[in-house]
Formats: sequence, structure tokens, C-alpha cells
Amino acid sequence: MLDGLPGGALVSIAGFLGLLIGSFLNVVIYRLPKMMEQQWAAECAELSGHITDTPTATAATEKLSLTSPRSRCSNCGHVIAWYENIPLLSYVLLRGKCSVCSAKFGVRYPAVEASTGLLFAFCAWRWGATPAALAWCGFSAALLALAVIDWDTTLLPDDVTLPLLWAGLVLAALQFNAGVVLADALWGAVAGYLSLWLVYWAFKLVTGKEGMGYGDFKLFAALGAWFGWSALVPIILMASVIGAVVGIGMKFSSGLREGGYVPFGPFLAGAGFTAMIFGPQAILRTVGL
Ligand SMILES: [Zn+2]
Repeated sequence: MLDGLPGGALVSIAGFLGLLIGSFLNVVIYRLPKMMEQQWAAECAELSGHITDTPTATAATEKLSLTSPRSRCSNCGHVIAWYENIPLLSYVLLRGKCSVCSAKFGVRYPAVEASTGLLFAFCAWRWGATPAALAWCGFSAALLALAVIDWDTTLLPDDVTLPLLWAGLVLAALQFNAGVVLADALWGAVAGYLSLWLVYWAFKLVTGKEGMGYGDFKLFAALGAWFGWSALVPIILMASVIGAVVGIGMKFSSGLREGGYVPFGPFLAGAGFTAMIFGPQAILRTVGL
């Protein structure tokens, strides 16, 4: 259906769609960790025999989902109207402030929207009107959400990492993913998971500390499924370079957080984006291998 469109129109449509999806990603980024916390609290209460269905308990913690309740200003509780929620445009028109109490909204929101728009536009430009373009748009959205959630909360939700892993395997099986056959994707997922799992346990046995989490293994496995096993080394190299640069930058700006813990997921995601845009082998060429 989109085959007859000129390339520029396709890229614009994809970019616009990306802005809308980016707006939704902001909701996912904000709410998914809170939904996980609610679920853990409910499970703990159930295990310890407490009944949480009392009216007071439910009133205190309104049950969150990705679609309800409507988005509110976190300062004054003003329900955000649809015309205050237009990607980028509303942020510019309202100058990043709540229309009622003038509390500032973070620059994060328009940044996520703009990034998603650019990534979708790139996918449309690179892969044209194909199933592959759609798949890589999904990949971009999932990876961006994971990066920001991990940065905020040091969590990489299974609800995102595991579907991303399966999607990579399915795409390889359907041969939508040029150059990555199912065996490459499968061994990529296996080797991705096992390699970080081994590093984790070696690090833990030697230092007694946990250098990363199980979410990192699953994310690396997902990247292995999307790019094939041969991309794992370039991706981990790239993630380490990005991590070192950001780590040094944070040290100089004394932005290192309490305990000095920096999540690894955002750097893996950054490497995933680099591999998507330039190809995994280009990373190796850049570092001279
Ligand atoms: Zn407000």
C-alpha cells in the first residue's frame, strides 16, 4: 500500500508516527517500573497472608496500567488534556510548564518523543516500506524505553526484554532480517546470555559485588537474536566505550550517584542503536579490528 509513496513522504509519516509512539513511551517509562513495584508489593502481601482487597489499601495505591488513569501533573494533579499532550508541539507552546500550576515538565518528555521520531524516520529511510522497517521501529522503541527505564530505576523489565528477544528470533526465522539466519540469531541469544552470566559470576566470586543484573543478560541475548552471534563482540566493545565515556563525564561533573552504581543497560542499548544504524561490523572497523 505504501509502495507508491515517494521516499520523503514515507520518512515523514514514519517520523510523525515515531513522535506519537514516543509520547506513549514516556508513559511506559514512567509507569512500567511503578506497575512492577505494585505487583511485587501485592505478591509479597499475598505470600505473607495479608489481604489487600480492603477499600483503604486500594484507595491508597490506585492501580496503575499503561492506559489508566489519565496522565496528570505530578505537582498539582491537573489532568493533562489531549491538546496539552501533542508530541513536541505542546511542550513548545506551554514552554515546558503545567498550564495550571506552571510546574516545569522535564525536558525528558520532548527528548524521548524527538528521539523516537528520528529513529522511526531512519528506519523508514533505511528499509523503505518493508516488514523489516516496521520490525526495526519496534526494536528502536523497545530499546529506547529500556535504556531510560534502566537509567532511572536500574531495572530492565522482562515485559520488554523477553518479547524483544522472541521478536529477534521470529524475524530471523521469517527471514525479515537480512543477513541474520535463524541459527545465527539463536546462537546469538544463547551466547549473549551466557557470556554476561559468566562475567557476572566471575566478578561476584572475585569481588563479592554484583556488577550487573539479570536484565542485562536478557538484553544482551535480545541483541544477539537481532544481530546474530557475530555481532556480540562489537556490541559489547561499543557498550564499554560508551560506558567509559559517560562514566568519565559523570565523574568530572560529579554526577556519580550514591554508591557509584551506573546501570549497564543504557550502554548496551546505545551499542544496539549504533549497530542498527552503522552495522555491527562498522564498529569493529572503527576500533581498528
Ligand atoms: Zn500542575
